[in-house]
Amino acid sequence: MDPVEVAVVPDAGPGPAWQSKCPWGVPNTTSMSCSLADVMSEQLAKELQLEEENAAFPEVVAVAEGPFITGENIDTSSDLMLAQMLQMEFDREYDAQLRREEKKINGDSKVSISFENYRKVHPYDSDSSEDEVDWQDTRHDPYRADKPTTTPRKGFIGKGKDITTKHDEVVCGRKNTARMENFAPEFQVGDGIGMDLKLSNQVFNALKQHAYSEERRSARLHEKKEHSTAEKAVDPKTRLLLYKMVNAGTLETITGCISTGKESVVFHAYGGKSATEDKVIPPECAIKVFKTTLNEFKNRDKYIKDDYRFKDRFSKLNPRKIIRMWAEKEMHNLTRMQIAGIPCPQVVMLKKHILVMSFIGQDQVPAPKLKDVTLSSEDMKKAYYQILIMMQQLYKECNLVHADLSEYNMLWHDGKVWLIDVSQSVEPTHPHGLEFLFRDCRNVSQFFQKGGVAEALNERELFNAVSDLNITADNEVDFQAEIEALEKMNEDHVQNHGQKLSMFSSDGDPPVYDE
Ligand code: ADP
Ligand code: MN
Repeated sequence: MDPVEVAVVPDAGPGPAWQSKCPWGVPNTTSMSCSLADVMSEQLAKELQLEEENAAFPEVVAVAEGPFITGENIDTSSDLMLAQMLQMEFDREYDAQLRREEKKINGDSKVSISFENYRKVHPYDSDSSEDEVDWQDTRHDPYRADKPTTTPRKGFIGKGKDITTKHDEVVCGRKNTARMENFAPEFQVGDGIGMDLKLSNQVFNALKQHAYSEERRSARLHEKKEHSTAEKAVDPKTRLLLYKMVNAGTLETITGCISTGKESVVFHAYGGKSATEDKVIPPECAIKVFKTTLNEFKNRDKYIKDDYRFKDRFSKLNPRKIIRMWAEKEMHNLTRMQIAGIPCPQVVMLKKHILVMSFIGQDQVPAPKLKDVTLSSEDMKKAYYQILIMMQQLYKECNLVHADLSEYNMLWHDGKVWLIDVSQSVEPTHPHGLEFLFRDCRNVSQFFQKGGVAEALNERELFNAVSDLNITADNEVDFQAEIEALEKMNEDHVQNHGQKLSMFSSDGDPPVYDE
């Protein structure tokens, strides 16, 4: 909104007939000119806005100081959310009106005019009301209960008693609703006047602030729309989530895509500021977006379906939630590894199917995979022994088997090996856990034997060194048969006793942070 226009409004004399319906002033005039600096000054805009509002509705101030709003009622956090929801609803209505007009203008004409660029609701926000969850906890959904009750049709707060009592003063609310129309004059709020709306002063103020920032943001996004790499690779819901992370300041910028795999897309981002002081966001982050297209995940069912940690939840969940569980699983597994001191990305946050972690690499350049880096024979040997130890730690301290360990999922950074990609990792007692471990051992052995590390154990030796299971078979077929027999034994035991077999319990129960 142009602040100068607003400034002249309160003193406007009697105007055309439609104006007389708007006792608070003229919604919009277009003729005033002013310097660019003035237009750009947000501070000035706010001041002028306040001035104008106070001039138009001096009595509202009196209500604000009355019995309904006292000094202690200064918490506006829920109001802000209401305000944002309200704004969003207004935006939608505005867009709906725009669409109607677009349709009217275009009619049956072969050449049509698009109003796309005038839309208020950017694609990011169009879906935002649906199953919103907390940043960290995918199970708890703090917003869900609020939204349907506080946003009835039109997005206005319906009955006063639906919100906290300090906000439902009817007169004040109605006045604020009227003022709200006034502060966004170019905004086609349509039938708002005819509706019996009540808006508290706090909501009003939050909404007002939001309206300003929203307009700037909207303009900015229209500008940037074409330039973002991240946006092209992900669906609108993911885009919204990523966008929110940037908007919240958690991430500074999302620079681009590092990797597009079958099951995930990984982006690089510069870290922003954390909302809480005790948590530091790394300067560079990797964002792993688990693909929500389900086909690729079908063959991974076996990893998670049989994982007792997720067993109860698996059967009840819809496919979209299962995808989120992959992200959640990776988070839990990385946390365990972090505690054991295994070099791996550090978890920054989890939001639905998006996992933000620290970036392994520097200046947007990811550390090379072990398969892509040429190491000196000394480093090769060093890497091998490091991996041997990491596999043991993973098994014994983290109670995990990587299950996709290979030179593709190990990065070489800072003179050491970093393990990544642990969404599919399982506990050794997983019905196929030992088979997965054996496969991991085979990949590692082969890689280092081919890479000229004479000391590298063969896969069976490595398996025993990691698991301490001392399987004695001297050929692969027998070895695998023994592994499967062990798995079966364990599975039967679980079926019969609901407990793990003693061979696995040497390092105690799974860590407490797992469900
Ligand atoms: P996928 O399931 O697609 O293999 P990964 O977790 O292996 O998923 O990530 C794919 C690629 O993205 C990796 O090979 C690596 O190059 C890059 N990558 C993933 N996480 C990070 C990270 N934390 N830091 C740097 N690069 C990463
Ligand atoms: Mn990978």
